[in-house]
Amino acid sequence: MKEGTEEKLKQRNIKPTAMRMLVYDVLNKNKKAVSLVEIERELGDVDRSTVFRTLRTFQDNLLIHSVDDGSGAVKYALCDDDCTCAIDDQHIHFLCTVCGQTYCLKELPIPDLNLPEGFTFESANFVVKGVCAGCRR
Ligand SMILES: [Zn+2]
Ligand SMILES: [Zn+2]
Repeated sequence: MKEGTEEKLKQRNIKPTAMRMLVYDVLNKNKKAVSLVEIERELGDVDRSTVFRTLRTFQDNLLIHSVDDGSGAVKYALCDDDCTCAIDDQHIHFLCTVCGQTYCLKELPIPDLNLPEGFTFESANFVVKGVCAGCRR
């Protein structure tokens, strides 16, 4: 178990149960967004609905954000410590068409949206597709 997992969960007001710490560690280990099935595969013998509920709790507490990259499976990635998932904290995601991995491009915020009068922003799903640096080599 990586040090600091408990603190990270507590920081987001999440009670650090054994399952939650395991799921957090999978997300933390992966430097990309992972799907429910991938998390399940890494954890081995776990109940899918428990993992799903855990992800729900994480998302409700802004510990993670979800990405719909159009691949059919929703993927999840850790948020930065100071993330509030507001428009300024949201970023572009990159789906590699070769390896199928989805990356958080945290240094690339979603473009300023000039929404029409009366419209308010809640969330954006900005996915760029291409070939990642690892597959380009
Ligand atoms: Zn790739
Ligand atoms: Zn992301």
